[in-house]
Amino acid sequence: MNVIRLKDVDLKSDDVSITTLCSHTALQIFHGAKYEGFKTVGLVESSRKWFYELFSNLIDEFIVVDSWSEICSSRVITRLRELNSVLIPHGSLVEYVGLEQVMNLPIPIFGLRSLLTVESNQHSKMELLSRAGIAIPKSYRFDDPIDTTVIVKLSGAKGGRGYFVASDNDEVAVKVNKLLVSGIIKDVSDVLIQEYVIGVPAYFHYFNSMVLNRLELLGIDIRYESNVDGLRRLPNYVLGNITPTFNIIGNLPLVIRESLLPTVMRYGMNFVDATRKYLPPGIVGPFSLESIIKDDGSIVVFEFSGRIVAGTNLYTQGSPYSSFYWDEPMSMGRRIAREIKLAIQAGKLSEVLT
Ligand code: AMP
Repeated sequence: MNVIRLKDVDLKSDDVSITTLCSHTALQIFHGAKYEGFKTVGLVESSRKWFYELFSNLIDEFIVVDSWSEICSSRVITRLRELNSVLIPHGSLVEYVGLEQVMNLPIPIFGLRSLLTVESNQHSKMELLSRAGIAIPKSYRFDDPIDTTVIVKLSGAKGGRGYFVASDNDEVAVKVNKLLVSGIIKDVSDVLIQEYVIGVPAYFHYFNSMVLNRLELLGIDIRYESNVDGLRRLPNYVLGNITPTFNIIGNLPLVIRESLLPTVMRYGMNFVDATRKYLPPGIVGPFSLESIIKDDGSIVVFEFSGRIVAGTNLYTQGSPYSSFYWDEPMSMGRRIAREIKLAIQAGKLSEVLT
């Protein structure tokens, strides 16, 4: 039996369970893990267990918690270790469990754990993109003169909640002050003030394979957000003082002009290189660059996610792009499981975990 030691855990590589929080992209992750023959473990809040039990064909064992903080308890950690769990991070992990707790969780995580820290801060996130040589929107400090429409963002994977647009310094000051007074932020530096880029939003789903030594583009989506995407249904004269909000509701599939794909791939490769340089050993597995494509065809990236994104839920049977790499239905969830399987076969499991 092959045993690797990681995070003080002896992981039996021929008995790995794919584990994730029952939220976000969990069904896709379990579905993909089953395709690849893995045992699956769902960490679930008691109030949501009934829902995930409807998919008990995908989930071999539940570990039930009354609140997400219990994930760090010795009861849960002990059981996860007994099950040889590899934890797959997704957008709810840091949001529900907390960054510090996730960083210290004594369970192997698939992918680059340190990227979750960078991702949870809007400023460090944009800095990594910029260092990667990827075109990003202009950022403003609180006191900088604002000469265009801006979007003001809070930190964390809140799915756009609480963001607002503003057109001048007074409007920014009034709205940021409200956030300060209500305690949502502690300091003006807690918000990111960014140029609002006009164009078509496009979110690229990449997978960086350590085992196959290649970057794959597995899909693209466009998000559907409330109320900004509903506003176009109303004529301008009734819009009046309705302000756009950016709560993500769902995702729609997207393919883009093939002539745009070289830039998309170059950005993805640049991002991988930047993580290798600044966050060694660099990213393994899924990540997303979130962009606006402008009318001149240039692509401006306003955000990244260093883990699987919810837009991949569109493609449980593969996407128009995954078909170019894989002659079989290849979702992002399945691709994660495939990478773990290939790494186990190559004796490289420790290289895809942190
Ligand atoms: P985020 O949390 O950064 O993914 O942003 C949530 C949503 O806000 C995005 O899906 C976009 O619709 C919108 N958004 C964020 N940043 C920008 C930007 N710089 N320009 C235009 N729209 C943006």
